[in-house]
Order: sequence, then structure tokens, then C-alpha cells
Amino acid sequence: MSFEPARHAHQAGAASRASALETARTEAAAELARRRSYNRTYMRRWRKDPHHRARERRRSSIALRRHQNAQTLHELRGGMKEFGKPLCAMCRHKPPVMIVERLRATMTGFLRVDLPYCGEC
Ligand SMILES: [Zn+2]
Repeated sequence: MSFEPARHAHQAGAASRASALETARTEAAAELARRRSYNRTYMRRWRKDPHHRARERRRSSIALRRHQNAQTLHELRGGMKEFGKPLCAMCRHKPPVMIVERLRATMTGFLRVDLPYCGEC
């Protein structure tokens, strides 16, 4: 029976390819979670510095003006490129796969905004 071992080898190959793909997916998700967690703790640390907070307050007037200038909610949400395709509000290149919540600094405090996010950048 020459086909028996060959079939098993084929199945084993497919299984290992599938598990390699699964491993890659898991690793990518773990990497993304690591990066987000790092970004979050980094920003928390950054805001603890009074100089940084002062700089953020100065910049908040710019943020407020930008917000007021955003004529529609659509524009605030990252806008659309030509052909009406929605884009990630962070990189403005990839199509968004989820909406993330962010705080924007304004003159009076923070403004909660929902932004489209590609999940990769
Ligand atoms: Zn992006």
C-alpha cells in the first residue's frame, strides 16, 4: 500500500500548515495587545510629568481649534478618501476594522471621540 503513508504525510502537512497559521495569528494578536498595553502605560507615564502636562495644555488650544474646524462628525472620524472609502484615523491608509475610543485634549479638558482604527498601526 503505497498511498497510505503518502495520505498520512499529506494530512500531517495540512495540519501543521493550519497550526502554523494559527500560531502566527495568535502571535500577531499577542504582539498587538503588547503594543497597545505599552502605548497606554507610556502615555500614563508621560502625563505624570508636569512639563508634559503643560505642553499638552498649550497644545490643547490647537486641538480645540481643529475640533471646531471639523465641519462634520464624518470629518472628525477620520474622513474619507476619494471614492468614499473610510480610512483608519491613525494612519489614514488602511481600511478601519473597528471603532476605538480616544480622549482629545481641549481648552476645557478632554473630549471623548470614537475613531475608526485599522487594528494594525
Ligand atoms: Zn491605521
